[in-house]
Amino acid sequence: MRQAILSAPKTLEWRDGPMPRPEAGEVVVQVRAALTCGTDLKTYRRGHPKLGFGPFGHEASGDVLEAGEGVAGFSAGDPVMWVQTAPCGECHECRAGRENLCWRLTDQMAIGTYAEAIRLPAHVVARNLFPKPAQLSYIEAAFLEPFACIVHGWRVLEQADAMKPVPENVAIVGAGTIGMLHLAYATHAQIPATVVARHPERLALARRLGAIETAAADFDSLPEVLAASFAAVIECGGTPESWQEAVRLCAPGGRVLFFSGLPKGAHVPLDATRVHYEELVCLGSFHFTPDDVRRARELLIGEVVPARELISDVLPLGSLEDAFGRLDSRDGFKYALIPGPGAAAWV
Ligand SMILES: [Zn+2]
Ligand SMILES: [Zn+2]
Repeated sequence: MRQAILSAPKTLEWRDGPMPRPEAGEVVVQVRAALTCGTDLKTYRRGHPKLGFGPFGHEASGDVLEAGEGVAGFSAGDPVMWVQTAPCGECHECRAGRENLCWRLTDQMAIGTYAEAIRLPAHVVARNLFPKPAQLSYIEAAFLEPFACIVHGWRVLEQADAMKPVPENVAIVGAGTIGMLHLAYATHAQIPATVVARHPERLALARRLGAIETAAADFDSLPEVLAASFAAVIECGGTPESWQEAVRLCAPGGRVLFFSGLPKGAHVPLDATRVHYEELVCLGSFHFTPDDVRRARELLIGEVVPARELISDVLPLGSLEDAFGRLDSRDGFKYALIPGPGAAAWV
């Protein structure tokens, strides 16, 4: 089977090898659709501290080729969806209920979805592998991982205010894929959402996806009228400026969710006066728990995720380099890669 290998920054190679066979508890899946992701783009550009180089890609869905000994509930031919990690259930964080912070989260992941097939480790099969219902296309089903991150972010946000878990309005800073997925969640939850971003065409899409208001912002020219007016702010811009902007938008007593990760060692000066005297609640969000994954799957089935709007093109797997070239020049949201012979189409 054919598999993409990221061997160095911006260097993709193809490796042809034998079809993997599952050990006990494992499942080998034929990949039907794999999606590009912002994390993959970071890895493509400069490597990733936890993922390293090698097999590449983590968002996908497909059909079971072979289930290992002892696997219950899945057999050859079953359409499936999954996420790349599962918590160990035994470490300090898992026992404290913070499975998203599991110490062994990245020990053995299902990485390498830009391939004709992938082997899912036993702990992923046990906790985070699910049937793909027929009404979800393979491309839609592959949104399970990014949307689980979104669901987790909202859980963090809602748990931070016991009196009023659902905020009365929300500002979303940044209109990339992640900002749009947060918007989809807010729209579904009927929370009025304002999207703040640079690009007019992305703001136009945000309006189509349900934003009640959009603001073109170059972070130093944000409309003053929006300052301190949102009960919740979700930062998805991925820059120190967008973190600061998020704090500026937050109303007194409100919540700021810092959703995007900044490069290691980044420090961001925040308005300490506002944070203290106006009791701003500043929150981090990382990854997801198996509960978040199940909830994300329910919402995907409920058609909450605007997959067709966020897939910029459907390409054959062999066009992976082209897809990353386009992402690298900030062209498009996400690309779907379809393995196998024949023209790539929505599957
Ligand atoms: Zn992802
Ligand atoms: Zn653990």
